[in-house]
Amino acid sequence: MSFDAVIIGSGINGLASAAHLGVQGWRVGVFESADIPGGAVKTAEVTSPGFKHDLGAMNLSLFAGSAFHAEHGAALAKHGFELAPTADTFATAFPDGRWLGVTNDLDVTASRIEAFDEMDAATWRHMAGDFMRELEDIGGLLGTPMARHRMAKYLWKLWRKRGTAGAIELARFMASSPRAFLDEHYRSPELKAMMAAWGMHLDFAPDVAGGAVFPYLESFANQSFGMVLGKGGAGGLVNALIKMIEAQNGAIHTGARVTSIVRTGRTANGIRLADGTTVTARKAVIANTGPAALVRLLDDESGDDRYDDRALAFRYAPGTMMIHLAMDALPDWTAGEDLKRFAYIHLAPSLGMMDLAYAQAKAGLLPAEPVVVVGQPTTVDPSRAPAGKHVLWLQVRMVPAAIGGDAAGKIKGTDWADVKEAYADRVLDILDSYAPGASSKIIARHVVSPLDLEADNPNLVGGDQISGSHHISQNFLFRGPPGHAEWSTPVGNLYHVGASTWPGAGTGAGSGYMLAQRLVRGRH
Ligand SMILES: Cc1cc2nc3c(=O)[nH]c(=O)nc-3n(C[C@H](O)[C@H](O)[C@H](O)COP(=O)(O)OP(=O)(O)OC[C@H]3O[C@@H](n4cnc5c(N)ncnc54)[C@H](O)[C@@H]3O)c2cc1C
Repeated sequence: MSFDAVIIGSGINGLASAAHLGVQGWRVGVFESADIPGGAVKTAEVTSPGFKHDLGAMNLSLFAGSAFHAEHGAALAKHGFELAPTADTFATAFPDGRWLGVTNDLDVTASRIEAFDEMDAATWRHMAGDFMRELEDIGGLLGTPMARHRMAKYLWKLWRKRGTAGAIELARFMASSPRAFLDEHYRSPELKAMMAAWGMHLDFAPDVAGGAVFPYLESFANQSFGMVLGKGGAGGLVNALIKMIEAQNGAIHTGARVTSIVRTGRTANGIRLADGTTVTARKAVIANTGPAALVRLLDDESGDDRYDDRALAFRYAPGTMMIHLAMDALPDWTAGEDLKRFAYIHLAPSLGMMDLAYAQAKAGLLPAEPVVVVGQPTTVDPSRAPAGKHVLWLQVRMVPAAIGGDAAGKIKGTDWADVKEAYADRVLDILDSYAPGASSKIIARHVVSPLDLEADNPNLVGGDQISGSHHISQNFLFRGPPGHAEWSTPVGNLYHVGASTWPGAGTGAGSGYMLAQRLVRGRH
């Protein structure tokens, strides 16, 4: 077998590279170890027939707003990808029965905030008004390769627009913790908790430096654009990408684990599969893997010790546990019927509990009260379940990969296979405390431990859903070893994309698309 480009792994970034290169006339081959392609974006009926569960990402807003989608959205739609947008995006339920949430209508959100704090409502309006201007600069950074010439151009433009003081102010914001940013601008503890929950989707507990940008971006992006899911499940996006690749004469092989990268001298020219097959790559090998896994595919030797050391020392965030529920009906939230309309309900009522859950997970303990993200995809897209029925997507943040004990002192085991159902019971008790009787509506459940996540996708080391900590020392200029900002490696024609490379996790397809653009321009 021979291709222009061979892609190791069918994650969103590998597929985006393959699709873009295919459209540009490259013949691509994608080799995926799992039986179902898509990595952390896939949909399957894991509880009961007719109930479609997003096993990884559910929220495709990052993809819908991506540069890749802007260029290839029409082709994807032709191949069956349909967006399922919602105006009622995310909310937090509080133990006292109140709630606060963001609807893609500024007056509606602001009036909800006003009930908590009038000044906060005014600040929210002000920030929402400024958001498009800010997004140009922050989004511009996320869409810029961390290479000298590209960064210099970005910084020059930023300085011309904002001046020295404005640019420094932006840098200060990017370095701030969620709490520092929220305390500076808001007063209501409930509003702060509602926003800070977004940091927990990554590994930014309220006091972690560099985390302010995520609660800010998610809050105001949802305010400004709403949230987008994939019709029929996020896996529809993967299916459409595959059809797009195949339509350009590309090939996808599943159940095909890559065991090594073949080199001639210092240049990669193919891969070897677990069954011994060798596949030739004429122009590029693109690895959609973790950094250490990439070095292992090179027999632990890329030719550059500093690169190998950095890759092998890459740090991972605490893990995630997923609970997929087939439901007779949506939960009856104490906070009221309105909550049934929201895509995400965060059960993360205060900054203090988020701090504790993170600290306990980092200490190797099962958090006594984890953060729970309750996804209600069928409220947006009823096609994912039989008529009148629902699915719930429960994301449990954060949990340790290796269990040292239980912060609540109740669960005794330390092996995930033994304790995951008991821990899921704790999570469902939390759900019941906000929506009494919710667990009595469960038809079937499927519990996925952090180690199960890793077994399905080796890039999610320890069940880390963001494929590597995004703390400042591993983000921006530091996501990727020095000198390899534009997804290059020390090996000629070998490139590295995916969530563990810049611009990081999520469904935005940034690394895959920007690398493919670069390869097409001929800057190998
Ligand atoms: C539970 C969960 C929920 C999430 N929710 C959201 C969300 O709602 N919104 C959002 O934007 N993001 C979300 N994310 C994050 C987002 O889904 C990921 O960051 C993103 O999809 C990762 O894409 P990737 O390109 O890095 O590839 P990955 O998804 O990591 O896929 C890589 C693929 O490569 C394969 N592979 C690796 N090594 C080899 C090998 N040697 N040979 C062959 N194949 C190999 C793997 O099997 C895998 O299929 C979530 C992630 C998880 C896990």
